Amino acid sequence: MNILVLNCGSSSIKYQLFDMRNKSVLAKGLVHRVGMNGSKIDHRKGDKGDKFTVNEEVIDHKDGIKKVLNLLICKEKGVLSSLDEIKAVGHRVVHGGEKFAGSVLIDEDVLSAVRDCIGFAPLHNPPNLKGIEAVTELMPTVKQSAVFDTAFHQTMPQKAYLYALPYMFYEKEKIRRYGFHGTSHRFVSKRAAEMLKIPYERAKIITCHLGNGCSIAAVDGGVSVDTSMGHTPLEGLVMGTRCGDIDPAIILFIMKKYELSPNEIDNLLNKHSGVQGLSGESNDLRDLEEGWPNRSEKANMALDVYSYRIRKYIGSYMAVMNGCNAIAFTAGVGENSPIVRSIVCKELDFLGVKIDYDLNEKTWRGVEGDISTPDAKVRTLVVGTNEELVIAEDTLDLIQGRLHPKTGKPV
Ligand code: ADP
Repeated sequence: MNILVLNCGSSSIKYQLFDMRNKSVLAKGLVHRVGMNGSKIDHRKGDKGDKFTVNEEVIDHKDGIKKVLNLLICKEKGVLSSLDEIKAVGHRVVHGGEKFAGSVLIDEDVLSAVRDCIGFAPLHNPPNLKGIEAVTELMPTVKQSAVFDTAFHQTMPQKAYLYALPYMFYEKEKIRRYGFHGTSHRFVSKRAAEMLKIPYERAKIITCHLGNGCSIAAVDGGVSVDTSMGHTPLEGLVMGTRCGDIDPAIILFIMKKYELSPNEIDNLLNKHSGVQGLSGESNDLRDLEEGWPNRSEKANMALDVYSYRIRKYIGSYMAVMNGCNAIAFTAGVGENSPIVRSIVCKELDFLGVKIDYDLNEKTWRGVEGDISTPDAKVRTLVVGTNEELVIAEDTLDLIQGRLHPKTGKPV
């Protein structure tokens, strides 16, 4: 049983084809620069097969998906003899608002609810929808599912998701904390409980998803009870180019003084802030870490601010959950940066966190593990995230009836 997973961004399409009998990756790739000059498709057979690039014009998402499907059945580069071998397609959908607390099979109601959420995620939900519409046209009989970034955080209590604004803004506009990266926080917290050999229902895990976007979540007994991203993916941790938490009055001050429009301030906070804005050097932590701590004062400062914010959230989420069993680092930075992990975890022994610095140095590039000292009360774990696999698994559970098609709840 093969399942195709699609993650359609505004100008990209990520795809992975899974054989669900053994959960192996048959093919994967990325369509770059959809609808722009210089578009191309990087495609590989298997999870780690050789990458080859197809330089071809990709005019829109439908065209991109069509070209991906053709690659999958192409004699030389493909892995299928016919598209009938794809039983279902799972889509990553960024925002499901308050309507979705689980993954669902796509029907007209779901499509209309995802459209209703466009206002919450104007850059993300429209390309997600384009992907769904393209598959409906290209493979009209195939079942499709939507797996939402926000769904896992729908368990947050009101005290965690409400902002202290006039209540009308929640009632009328649904302004509240939604949280993102839910698929990753779900996968990683579950895996962390497995690594600790404690039942997920009893585990208290703090998951730090540190990639291009960064968020942290408190997962208590298998449910998200708080998370750092908010109404949009701008709140919380310092990110590559996003500022994370700031005093909201700063926005008004800058807008007035520099006469910025709403679009311009949005751009400043989302695209020119974070470690890029602080260092003036790069949004990529690999660059800032090169030669650390002797690279530059600004690179060190950016790394310090970035790591300090994570540390502050870890402390607060321990308070939220009345302790925790483990802190799990994941995604590009979390899985690969011993430097960030060491700055974050230094001098947290008061809270029971103690890492073994040698183990920390050795744990990266796909290595998973517990990097704590034997006596640490709170374990520090490095866990590889796999959002695509979760999407494929949910899709399989939906089409085989283990999850309710409309709520995503176990049947
Ligand atoms: P996304 O959020 O797009 O899924 P990833 O989880 O792939 O992103 O993370 C990408 C980020 O991971 C890059 O911006 C890069 O800064 C960081 N990264 C990758 N490898 C390393 C490394 N070895 N050291 C530090 N940071 C790394």
